[in-house]
Amino acid sequence: MSGFQPGKNGFQDYRSKIHLDVDVCVIGAGAGGCAAAAALAESGLRVAVLEEGSHWEPRDFRQDTAFAFKNLYQGRGARTLRGNTVIPMPGGRGVGGSTLINSGICFRCPPSVLQTWRDEHGCETITNERFGAYFDRIWETLGVTVNPVAVQRNNNLIFKSGAEALGLDGRFMARSAPGCVGCGICQYGCPTGGKTSADRTFLRQALSSGTVGVYANCRVERCETVGDHVVAVEGHTIDPETHEPVHGIRVRAETFIVSGGPVGSPLFLLRNGLADNTHCGEHLVVHPAVGTLARFAQEIRPWSGVTQGYYVDCWDEGFLLQTYTVSPDQYFLLLQTAPGPETLEILADLSHVASAGVLVHDEDSGGRVRWTPAGPDLSYFMGEGDRRRIIDGLRLCAEVFFAAGATAVAPGRLGHRPVTTMAEIRAALPHDVPASHLPIYASHPMGTCRMGADPETSVVDPHGRVWGWSNLRVADASVFPTSLGVNPQVTTMAMGLLVGHSVAGRV
Ligand SMILES: Cc1cc2nc3c(=O)[nH]c(=O)nc-3n(C[C@H](O)[C@H](O)[C@H](O)COP(=O)(O)OP(=O)(O)OC[C@H]3O[C@@H](n4cnc5c(N)ncnc54)[C@H](O)[C@@H]3O)c2cc1C
Ligand code: SF4
Repeated sequence: MSGFQPGKNGFQDYRSKIHLDVDVCVIGAGAGGCAAAAALAESGLRVAVLEEGSHWEPRDFRQDTAFAFKNLYQGRGARTLRGNTVIPMPGGRGVGGSTLINSGICFRCPPSVLQTWRDEHGCETITNERFGAYFDRIWETLGVTVNPVAVQRNNNLIFKSGAEALGLDGRFMARSAPGCVGCGICQYGCPTGGKTSADRTFLRQALSSGTVGVYANCRVERCETVGDHVVAVEGHTIDPETHEPVHGIRVRAETFIVSGGPVGSPLFLLRNGLADNTHCGEHLVVHPAVGTLARFAQEIRPWSGVTQGYYVDCWDEGFLLQTYTVSPDQYFLLLQTAPGPETLEILADLSHVASAGVLVHDEDSGGRVRWTPAGPDLSYFMGEGDRRRIIDGLRLCAEVFFAAGATAVAPGRLGHRPVTTMAEIRAALPHDVPASHLPIYASHPMGTCRMGADPETSVVDPHGRVWGWSNLRVADASVFPTSLGVNPQVTTMAMGLLVGHSVAGRV
């Protein structure tokens, strides 16, 4: 294939090396890349969006962990952080990026976080007015709504009853899933199309302009530069079955926007010497999270209903409690007990189990993404304060479950049996529990190409321009100067709009 082709292109269309010449090349079709493409398309720019994974339709998704990990997840679902504990860090792969596999939870970035970005990092483009308008647009584009009670079902309703009994500040979460029927498998791709992932919303807007071409199954690896200018990027088409490179691809453009996510973007910049590792790849924050399980006398059927529907707001204390459900085989993995009678007993009883967890606003933890000759090296060290906040959140989670009538609660400490009183929970979760005793999970990487006004302390300027390069930008969750403390997809899309509008000269 030679010559730019607007619309959807995929592996089946590629017969030989691809050469494209466009106005803007966007690398990565996740939350940030799709929003950036929509913003660019408004100005009639010719945009090629290159994405390593495939195009997906709702009918293609399967309730099958192995299928999802192979096709929709980075590193086939095995991506982890090392440090003072090992933390799984899943991420999406495909047109739609992590929005293909996320729970659709939508939060506007707290105003105090935006203010910190302006006051302490010099991000003067992030005004309340501009981001307020972006959040409104995202709400409308994604059809963000609170799903009805009939769709929420027991796992969310039981947690709500406990939170209300304790008088906590809880509510149903707004979600980008206006057509959700509560099938409970968001992490495998939404088979009903009820979730409005970025490919079904912002990218559709972009495609409808007729000036945007999306090239799925294309991985960008290298770039060619002259002076302070990126001239072209190169990579390969990727066989979706084997994940092996097949044909070459070369794209020339006036502007390049890297939207590979907080792992993919710094790796691309570092591998190509476009930024050094003083700040690029550093400052990784992830919203570390830990889940608990509770047993109820009544049926919960946690596999049914909105995957993540209810939360308790403890943002001022540094954490949120959020319900979650996963498929039965994932519960098996989460139990972290040795396979045997005890595990089988809990699994046989799964219809009576509810689950929720704590998500922490990283304050004294941090990590990095590095490129080494052996490949990517991802690390994260959990700070004392964040670890204590996890313990506080787990204790509160257990209290909510007991207030809702749980007969037993698993404290969320590896290998610890379920207990029946809060005294036992506190004993199981003293504040000095090491991070390695907690089954920590991290699905919100952020911050590895942080934005700022000072090239000495940041990777991109307040317009997303990589310091030192005239036509290279980053637009994804990696540009956040700090952690948010709330789920990040909406703020990522706002960053995509900002950078897209800036390239088009509208900011
Ligand atoms: C399981 C899970 C659940 C989540 N739930 C929620 C939620 O409910 N609410 C919420 O707000 N957030 C949630 N998130 C987080 C949210 O989805 C992400 O923060 C957001 O999608 C990040 O957007 P991004 O553009 O930075 O990266 P991504 O959306 O991850 O997209 C990056 C894309 O770039 C592609 N790419 C990378 N490198 C290259 C390359 N070299 N060449 C070509 N393509 C490349 C990748 O394949 C990927 O598709 C969840 C995340 C996960 C993993
Ligand atoms: S729970 Fe709702 S949003 Fe999630 S996969 Fe099922 S229908 Fe889609």
